[in-house]
Amino acid sequence: MNFRYRLMQFMSGRYGTDETFFVIFIIAVILSALNIFLRFVSLGLYAVIQLIVYALIIFAIFRVFSRNTEKRRKENYWVREKLGFLKRKKDFHDQKKADVMHIYKKCPACKAVLRLPRRIGVHTTVCPKCGKEFTVKVKK
Ligand SMILES: [Zn+2]
Repeated sequence: MNFRYRLMQFMSGRYGTDETFFVIFIIAVILSALNIFLRFVSLGLYAVIQLIVYALIIFAIFRVFSRNTEKRRKENYWVREKLGFLKRKKDFHDQKKADVMHIYKKCPACKAVLRLPRRIGVHTTVCPKCGKEFTVKVKK
């Protein structure tokens, strides 16, 4: 029986690595790097951060070997959702900046963001979401 087969047998039914594993790993690396400098600033804080790093590493390893795959999957979904949310927000911001043909205005009644053609002057527009009419000033 070779090592790879034994490892596969050991890992069967266990969770393994996922995005959350790498996120925890990266956080641990960043904190460790930070601690190189903190050591000279505050030994108390250094000890606390070092404990957090150990706790993160233990938690990451515990997740890899965990048999409670359902719970691990839910954790990973939560992490992905958080990371995905940040990414989407940035994409929308970039899109707004690149879009010179339109302006983005918030409806004063329902706060929905409306995309309107960039025509200089004062216009009245009707919110497609709540039907409220409001004026929009476009300077440039
Ligand atoms: Zn509205």
